[in-house]
Amino acid sequence: MRLPVLSITDVAERGLCCGCGACAAVDARIEMVDDLEHGRRPVVTGGRDADTSDALRVCPGVALEHDPGARRAPGVIRELFPGFGPVLALWEGHAADPEIRFAGSSGGAASALALHGLEREGLAGVLHIAARQDAPHLNRTVLSTTRRELLDRTGSRYAPASPCDGLGLIEEAPGPCVFIGKPCDAAAVLKARRMRPALDAKLGLTIAFFCAGTPSTRGTFEMLRRMGVEDPRRLISLRYRGNGWPGLATAVWRDGAGAERSATLTYEQSWGEILTNYKQWRCKVCADHTGEFADVAVGDPWHRPVESGGPGLSLILARTPRGRDFIERAIESGALEASPVEPGALPASQPNLLKTRGAVWGRSLASRLCGVPAPRHRGLAMFRFWLTRLSTMEKIRSLAGTARRIAAGGLRRPRPVVPMPVEAGAPTGAAVEDAA
Ligand SMILES: Cc1cc2nc3c(=O)[nH]c(=O)nc-3n(C[C@H](O)[C@H](O)[C@H](O)COP(=O)(O)OP(=O)(O)OC[C@H]3O[C@@H](n4cnc5c(N)ncnc54)[C@H](O)[C@@H]3O)c2cc1C
Ligand code: SF4
Ligand code: SF4
Repeated sequence: MRLPVLSITDVAERGLCCGCGACAAVDARIEMVDDLEHGRRPVVTGGRDADTSDALRVCPGVALEHDPGARRAPGVIRELFPGFGPVLALWEGHAADPEIRFAGSSGGAASALALHGLEREGLAGVLHIAARQDAPHLNRTVLSTTRRELLDRTGSRYAPASPCDGLGLIEEAPGPCVFIGKPCDAAAVLKARRMRPALDAKLGLTIAFFCAGTPSTRGTFEMLRRMGVEDPRRLISLRYRGNGWPGLATAVWRDGAGAERSATLTYEQSWGEILTNYKQWRCKVCADHTGEFADVAVGDPWHRPVESGGPGLSLILARTPRGRDFIERAIESGALEASPVEPGALPASQPNLLKTRGAVWGRSLASRLCGVPAPRHRGLAMFRFWLTRLSTMEKIRSLAGTARRIAAGGLRRPRPVVPMPVEAGAPTGAAVEDAA
């Protein structure tokens, strides 16, 4: 029997939540908590019976939809739209500020654009995420207003984060702001701004970065265990990448005797061998991995040779006229060094994405057949890629493999949100199993 998704609690318990936090920004009864196995999740005061219809309207977990005319909008590159959404122009480049370029995840383009907004466009702040000071393996939402803050908060954090829970900070800011987040975060912002004119007026630019999926905090604990960190409560700092391209995951902590220790893992070890295995379920049925609902999207131009630890590069997409004009002004002002590239640079940079998009169609169908809800997608082509990009075996796997996974994971049953029991973290050993 297929249960309907009628509330934010249903979204969270039935695997549709991506943890963006937008519901908490529009409904004061909703609080975001850290759930070890699943990520940042909403908890609703009043529980299942509370009316959360406003929050559902901003929720990207249940539905993503392009406007019916988006494909034919002026300037949209037709050949890219089916697989990557609206793209008006593409560049490759990096932050001109060498410190930001080095510290940034790719070429520091997201931070460079944000800094240009603060220093040259009179924007009031940048809503994005940072490591929690008291628990560096967890994230918090912050409004940065200086170069120093932006620099300290560069770098992708492959861990749950809910930047949209701070949208109120943008609404209350003295002027328009920049928002930076994952594709689902940016989709939530677009929904929220359509509902709240005060927010709409304060959004100077939205930036999304490409995203293959958010690993759970359990994934971070596994990575820390591999690094030799037995107790995350002893962490002093934790970075997942950046400080070179793609950079090393780096943990600094105090051991039992109080001595400072550090360890690193390569990107292939941290993301490729560990974190990617802990992606939240919602990411398996995510059709937008490139920030189709933001003004600007940035990602790794992986088709370029990567010299480990060398200076980074970013692929930069203008998705709206506002985004294109902003990028051009940032290049003109010298904040961003970037050159236009051909549309083919996008599929070349992310060679597996069209296949993934096709697989999402198969996984979504299998989910629904098994009684598990899947997000509604309109204007994001998927079936054609399932048909053309997947081999017969891959097609079967997208259907049968999903059904098997649903059965093995007990995904048909609602899974209540379980806030992490220890505020500042939990040991990475058996105690975590107990806590879960
Ligand atoms: C979960 C995740 C999955 C990713 N998957 C891909 C991928 O499939 N392909 C690809 O090309 N790149 C991926 N990336 C990396 C990212 O898209 C690129 O590094 C991007 O080019 C940004 O680089 P930058 O140098 O411009 O960013 P920077 O200038 O370093 O700025 C990064 C910004 O991202 C914010 N941020 C960091 N982590 C998070 C988070 N978890 N949630 C919300 N905001 C965050 C920071 O606050 C900062 O503002 C992923 C990153 C993350 C966090
Ligand atoms: S996806 Fe975002 S808006 Fe929807 S329930 Fe999760 S946190 Fe709330
Ligand atoms: S893969 Fe999609 S749903 Fe998952 S975190 Fe990234 S953008 Fe959000």
